[in-house]
Formats: sequence, C-alpha cells, structure tokens
Amino acid sequence: MKRILLGLLSLILVIAAAGCAANTEANEASAAPETSSEPTAIPEPDSEPAPSMEATEAPPTEEPNMATLFYQGHGSLRVTTAEGKVIYIDPYAGEGYDSPADLILVTHGHSDHTAVDLIKAQNSGCQTITYEEALVDGEYKTFDLGYVTVEAVEAGNNPNHDITVCVGYILTFSDGKTVYISGDTSTTDQMATLKERNLDYAFFCCDGIYNMDIEEAAACAELVGAKHSIPYHMSPGENFSQERAELFDVPNRLIIADGEEITL
Ligand SMILES: [Zn+2]
Repeated sequence: MKRILLGLLSLILVIAAAGCAANTEANEASAAPETSSEPTAIPEPDSEPAPSMEATEAPPTEEPNMATLFYQGHGSLRVTTAEGKVIYIDPYAGEGYDSPADLILVTHGHSDHTAVDLIKAQNSGCQTITYEEALVDGEYKTFDLGYVTVEAVEAGNNPNHDITVCVGYILTFSDGKTVYISGDTSTTDQMATLKERNLDYAFFCCDGIYNMDIEEAAACAELVGAKHSIPYHMSPGENFSQERAELFDVPNRLIIADGEEITL
C-alpha cells in the first residue's frame, strides 16, 4: 500500500514538474513574439506626424481669404475680393458678367472699355468710378472703400489717348496685395516711380496700333518692376492671342488667357 502511495506521489510530482516546465516554455514562447513585433510597430508613429501636421495646417491659411482675378479678354477684368466683393474693370470683352457688381472701374471713354450694361446686376451700394471721378483738375484721386483702395495713376500719353481723360488704376486689397492696370497708354513719367511700390501684379496694354507696342510694353514692365507682368489689350478685335503674349519678353512674365482665373 505504501509503495502504491509513494508511486502515486512521485507520479504527481513528475507531472507537476513537467507542467511547470511546459508553462515556462509557453511563457517564453508567448513573450518572444511580443518583443519581436515591437520594432515594426515603432516606425509608424514616427513617420505619421509629418503629413498629418501639413494636413491640419494648410486649409485654414489658404482657403477662406484669397482674392481671385478673372480675365475676360481684351482690357476687361473681374476681381472677387477675399470679402466676396466683385469689381469689374473696363467691361466689354468675353463672358463672366453674372456676379452682381460692388464696384465698376472705367479707365477712359472708348467703347471697348465702357460696356457697363453687360454687367447683369449690381449690389446695393455699388459704386462706379470712371476717369471723370478719378482725375479731377489734374489731380489723381484715391478711393478707400475698405475692401480695396483704388488709386488712379497716369495713362494715355499717345495720339489716341489724351492723358487728361485717361487713367490707370492701382488696386490694393485688404491683405496688402496690389494689382496695377495700365489702361490704354504709352509710357508715362509716373511708371518709373512705381518700382518702389514693389507691386504684385501689373497689366500692360500692348496692341501697337492705338497704344504702345509689345516692345515698349516690355520696357514699361521693366520700369514698373512688378512681381508678375501680364500682357493684355493685345490687338483690336481679339480678346487674347497666345502668340502675341509670348512676344512680351520680360523675365517675370505671367500669361493669363481669356476666360482664365488666377488666385491673387
Ligand atoms: Zn482700348
């Protein structure tokens, strides 16, 4: 009987010992995959923060406050400011007159700059500024409208455009961006003084029939020294000519085709 009990006891001990050994093996085995899987998990959090920071930072600064400029062709432009105000300049060419106007600017009295009736609607309080309001008794006026400051500058100065009844405009928007519109003109004395303004965008007429030709326009672009010099009002009866635009030989040239819109 004692032998049987001893036998049983030793059997229990053997089983217990084997069980322990099996458990430690199991523990070691289960611990091993955990440690070996860690290195592959680490690089992911390291590489992910960079793109997610870009994604969260970009939209708030870029989306809401950008003005846009739509080139209708010939001498006609439409600007929509960051505040949503719509400004038409020398309405005449192309499409894009559906947005109700807040401001209409006219550089001079020729019919290819004064087709105000194309603008389908005007918001209440819409203002119109022509050369008659902008140039009074030889004084070039500035109009501060809050969302934009409109500054009349010299224009004309050729046999077809009397300098006393023509203006160009410099628009300064609420974010400080500036756009110069030459109007119909040849070189003026004032152009050289604009360089210090460090203008952002400058449009130069260049038809070579009623106004300065493309070489003179390029020389004016050098004088004005804007960050982007853009040819417009290229030839009578044509809203835009890519071929002619490419002859406008300035280092900081920007070509905008008719019907094209840029973000300012
Ligand atoms: Zn014209």
